Amino acid sequence: MAAPAGSGSSDRTEHSGLEFRSPRVAQIHRAGILALAPVGLLLHDHDHPRHALQQLLRALPPGGLLPAHRTIEDPPRPPLGFSPAHPAHGCVFPSPARVRAAGWDSVFRRGCETFGRSVLAEFFRSSGAEHSGGDRHLGGRTAGRPDRAPRRAVQVLVNECTAQAGLAFPHVVILGAGPAGLAAAWRLARRGTLRVTVLEQREEVGGYAGSFTLEGCRVDYGSHRLHPATPREILEDLRSLLGADLLRRPRHGRIRLQGRWIHFPLQPLDLLTHLPPQFLLGVAADAVCKPFRTSTDSHSFAGVLERGLGRTICREFYFPYAEKLWGFPPTELAATQARRRISGDSLGKLARKLQAAFTRNGQGRSFYYPRRGYGQISEALAEAARAARAEICLGAEVTALLCAGPRVRAVQFRRHGSTHRVPADAVLSTLPVQRLVERIEPPAPENVRGAAAQLQFRGLLLIYLVLAQDRFSEFDAHYFPEPAMPLSRLSEPKNYSGASEPRGRTVLCAELPADPGQPYWQMSDAELGHAVCAWVAGVGLPVAAPVLGVVTRRLRCAYPVYRRGYEEHFAVLDHWLAQMENLLTFGRQGLFVHDNTHHALIMAYAAAECVSERGELDHTAWRAHRRRFEAHVVED
Ligand SMILES: Cc1cc2nc3c(=O)[nH]c(=O)nc-3n(C[C@H](O)[C@H](O)[C@H](O)COP(=O)(O)OP(=O)(O)OC[C@H]3O[C@@H](n4cnc5c(N)ncnc54)[C@H](O)[C@@H]3O)c2cc1C
Repeated sequence: MAAPAGSGSSDRTEHSGLEFRSPRVAQIHRAGILALAPVGLLLHDHDHPRHALQQLLRALPPGGLLPAHRTIEDPPRPPLGFSPAHPAHGCVFPSPARVRAAGWDSVFRRGCETFGRSVLAEFFRSSGAEHSGGDRHLGGRTAGRPDRAPRRAVQVLVNECTAQAGLAFPHVVILGAGPAGLAAAWRLARRGTLRVTVLEQREEVGGYAGSFTLEGCRVDYGSHRLHPATPREILEDLRSLLGADLLRRPRHGRIRLQGRWIHFPLQPLDLLTHLPPQFLLGVAADAVCKPFRTSTDSHSFAGVLERGLGRTICREFYFPYAEKLWGFPPTELAATQARRRISGDSLGKLARKLQAAFTRNGQGRSFYYPRRGYGQISEALAEAARAARAEICLGAEVTALLCAGPRVRAVQFRRHGSTHRVPADAVLSTLPVQRLVERIEPPAPENVRGAAAQLQFRGLLLIYLVLAQDRFSEFDAHYFPEPAMPLSRLSEPKNYSGASEPRGRTVLCAELPADPGQPYWQMSDAELGHAVCAWVAGVGLPVAAPVLGVVTRRLRCAYPVYRRGYEEHFAVLDHWLAQMENLLTFGRQGLFVHDNTHHALIMAYAAAECVSERGELDHTAWRAHRRRFEAHVVED
């Protein structure tokens, strides 16, 4: 319950009293029109929102719940101290006669129209509510700023009233609940002027950046860490959502090169003492010869990288690793793959990375990681989005986007065996871009569908071994560029958060690049478990503890494959999708990029920015953002 003004109770008590879950506010929510009219009045009193809300709460009739469609015979008196005729308060309170004359529905809808589209948008913009983070609870980042909490409470109320009124606010439908979809949902929903629905095919949020539990251990979909290159604004938001659970951890991995272990991130002394002498000599010779190196092939991954790094590093490390990861010889991969995917694509950049290893704050030496697994980032975003009244619909597989001309009218999805349709004013999709195009009805032109079919993703098998021991090794990840080893990486999730629990259990996650239909993809979980044990034993990492279980996850779209010429196919899709007035594709798979999570979040913030209060998309602004995304380089 809200404390009366000047009662001396602490902000925290007051905030918790104003939370939507409080019975008093829940009562307002159920009262519908009873809440909305005073809220409209309240919004006109910009000077004293705190005082106004308290008045509003006190003025509500006790137990005054109204069933839908009932005519209101005896509307409550306006809150104490407010006069509908007073110019400072505005005249938006419906007169008792009008309320009595109208049915519940029509007044409510009209109220939403009046307050929602214009007054609310203006109010939240001028109050700065749109820019303040931490609306997970009213006591989040708003705690300690007494003027913000009542506005948040009003926002929660208004959102709830609006949700009851159906489509009173423009409806933004977001496809996919990975970090990109969730962050966009949160940014849009917290404005309080849009209805936001997220459709996700799986039963949990997070996409490839999610987590799940195996024998008490939190595990991710392969090795995941939040890079310190994350922009400050996004990092601040994540900190406000995760609090002390967002840990900063030192990196501690190893690369297997010519039968030896090299520390990763690279360390100068370690390189000098552990790299084979002929490898070091080769790199030195490559550096000396660099000014004289001319490229015969500037269009392939192999050509660009060899010109920048020289023969030795490419032939011993990058080329075999690239072929293993993406399934094609480096000469068949596009040059873009080198520019976007390899942050140290020249000897100069590699040298700078090594130099950074000497500095105390060398970015590459640490990472952010949530205490309860990488998926906690998405879970926190989902919680914040829900608190701002976004609806996240899990188990909802999007099957069609129903269009009329260049507009999506509705999104069709399958959920628990039945088919549903939801009308949309704007659609933001993070689905793999090819799958998005395939789902558009009526079908996209043949050349567009043909181009979609040409774009390929590389699959990845994740094989989790549950071991009966506290810890397998001190390292977070082992990287295997060598072609003789089928795995690309082996990680131990417990070492990412530094968790000591559960005792007597740890999990190894082996990453095996393979596509559906290939022999590895056909193997059973048990067969894959045996194979992983043999492979890691072969590089000096024997699994000595009993294996309590083997679980696999099969990712079909782990990495976009940039084969030479892929740009032309992507451009056809991109060009065609750009003419859709109310559809925007973003996120890692939506833009067919290798990007990190922080890039996906940058895209989400930008996408949300491009949606107007009326649910319209600003394509010019989006094109400008897209040009900026071109500069993203993936961090390992
Ligand atoms: C093995 C691996 C390791 C990685 N390591 C790192 C790392 O260390 N650091 C880092 O920053 N990034 C890493 N990444 C990248 C990171 O996972 C992505 O940047 C991030 O997941 C992108 O988020 P997103 O929301 O764009 O896409 P996704 O996470 O892919 O989310 C897309 C969502 O759409 C849903 N969807 C798809 N089709 C449908 C449909 N028809 N109907 C409804 N829903 C649908 C999916 O289920 C999914 O939830 C890694 C990726 C992989 C594969």
